[in-house]
Amino acid sequence: MSVICRADSEMLQRRRRRMNTMSRITNRAQNISESLTLAITAKAKKMKADGIAVIGFGAGEPDFNTPDYIINAAKVALDKGLTKYTASSGMPELKAAIADKFLNDNGLSYSPAQIVVSNGAKHSLYNAMLAIVEEGDEVIIPAPYWLTYPELVKLCGGVPVIAYPGDKVSLKVTAEDIYKVATDKTKAIVINSPSNPSGIVYSEDELKALSEAIEKLGLITISDEIYEKLIYDGMDHYSIAASSDYMYNNTIVINGASKSYSMTGWRIGYLAAPKDIAAAIDCMQSHCTSNANSIAQYATIAALKEAGDFLPNMVKSFDARRRLMTALIGEIKGLDYIDPKGAFYVMVNVSALFGRESGGRKLTCAQDVAEVLLDKAYVAVVPCESFGADEYIRLSYAISESDIREGIARISSFVSGILG
Ligand code: PLP
Repeated sequence: MSVICRADSEMLQRRRRRMNTMSRITNRAQNISESLTLAITAKAKKMKADGIAVIGFGAGEPDFNTPDYIINAAKVALDKGLTKYTASSGMPELKAAIADKFLNDNGLSYSPAQIVVSNGAKHSLYNAMLAIVEEGDEVIIPAPYWLTYPELVKLCGGVPVIAYPGDKVSLKVTAEDIYKVATDKTKAIVINSPSNPSGIVYSEDELKALSEAIEKLGLITISDEIYEKLIYDGMDHYSIAASSDYMYNNTIVINGASKSYSMTGWRIGYLAAPKDIAAAIDCMQSHCTSNANSIAQYATIAALKEAGDFLPNMVKSFDARRRLMTALIGEIKGLDYIDPKGAFYVMVNVSALFGRESGGRKLTCAQDVAEVLLDKAYVAVVPCESFGADEYIRLSYAISESDIREGIARISSFVSGILG
């Protein structure tokens, strides 16, 4: 009865008027940028479906099957009926295996209470930001960066602040680049080594120099180490969390199974953090998603514990393709690239094409170059404007050597057709 009375009241009209002026979508959601690469990816897919032999350099995942020993561990878990909820922060056996990994690989000692397993490293990153970023807090993101970082900061109400490298050759940021953009509102910094999109790997000394600045500024670090195992030319991965007591006590290390074990679809990521941050993340996750998939957790225990020859073989293949790709790009007059030491991407500078024309279209930016490359040469690449590297396109070598040869040959004749 009272509901009907209220429905007849002026209040209902006021509500209607208010609802009409309100947006259905929150500012927070509207604030998130659409990926510039989506249109190109969708077009490349359509062209392939139409029978056009497009070479796609956009892959963001290893082109290898998940190894059998991992798949078998999942099958065993299924057959045993291990299909129920687990602890929301992850199964104790998995957390123990992750703690061993951190100790053995990174020299970092974590208790199970400091580890949270989530639905992919992206989820771990989001959890980390949600736990530490307040409305209006600034988060420093060194460029070039993975395009998801700024969007996650915004989603949490924070303000992404990009630190551009002063050194335009190495594209590595230094302490000075960080001091330049730090303000009273800066709360945290994101470090990503090996890097997507550039394949840059920061050395131990470089990370220690950065960590001194980070400590002076009193920042929290989110260190995304998802490409840790994909590293070449004898480089060693170093976790910035290991560089001092301050860094250990103020860093959230992100990692996961996706890239190292070719398990992108299984969705297992994890983080290690100081206890208070891990506890806050566990609490939030318990309400948002609960635990990561139980079968995938069993599979990840096998991935971490049973070191086989899958990983070294995958790294060997990626390394051979990396060398092939950089050698072929190096032969193209007018193009330059950032020498990648990790991950599976090469960032190629295409600024020599800016201001030139192709088929009556003026090329003014990397997005134009990517669009015309797809239209004219049937090659799909990722323009790097949304990675904070306007002059570059990103090429993934998570594809076969024959596709690399064919794709780069097409890019080569496209470029020579324009530059002569
Ligand atoms: N971090 C970086 C730098 C990435 O490139 C990716 C995926 O492309 C992720 C995190 C997310 O990994 P996951 O698939 O485990 O969510």
